[in-house]
Amino acid sequence: MTQSTYVFTPEPIPTMPVAGTDALFPVHRIYCVGRNFADHAIEMGHDPNKEPPFFFQKNPDTLVPPGSDFPYPSESRDVHHEVELIVALGKGGIDIPVESALDHVFGYAVGLDMTRRDLQAEAKKAGRPWETAKAFEASAPCGILHPVSEVGHPAAGAIWLEVNGELRQNGDLNQMLWKVPEMIASLSRLFELKAGDLIFSGTPAGVGAVVTGDEMVGHVDGVDTITVRVA
Ligand code: MN
Repeated sequence: MTQSTYVFTPEPIPTMPVAGTDALFPVHRIYCVGRNFADHAIEMGHDPNKEPPFFFQKNPDTLVPPGSDFPYPSESRDVHHEVELIVALGKGGIDIPVESALDHVFGYAVGLDMTRRDLQAEAKKAGRPWETAKAFEASAPCGILHPVSEVGHPAAGAIWLEVNGELRQNGDLNQMLWKVPEMIASLSRLFELKAGDLIFSGTPAGVGAVVTGDEMVGHVDGVDTITVRVA
């Protein structure tokens, strides 16, 4: 039997650069955690005691590689920044126990869950899905991936974002409602996780709008600092 070919050339596999090597991390899926910081849940009008965190997805090809601009998207007049710790899986599985969940992590990066807040508000009101608000082109700017061997498993430390030098978001990883092992265990009961999956682990309070020309600087203690310009 001859090997099958494609009827057209497939799109390239999305990747992230990895600190300390020229080899790339091939991205499979992007999962995101919603309302994982109580103060952000409250600023969005929700009660963190009544509404636990939940998951949604972005398309893997929405990643913006480090050093590239974030192009202001179409069909929105209220695009918000959300700085997040990205958890990158090096090993997949189903029904992963909390106790061994961290063994599945390859490394960590800083990322931005860019959001068309006006479209999200309309979707919430109408009970519609969030893809147009969350999974649009270039909606996931990210930094370099740092392997666990370099940064360990950050569970506490500042997570912040500045716009044009002004502090907008400021929190601590220890404020996460679901910790990284719980996110992985919980996701693995809903989906079959694979090596190459990314988890955007939620954002602290202070989300807000950006405009063309803004410079966003996102930081997670012990991981990285990223700079992304709105173009
Ligand atoms: Mn988010």
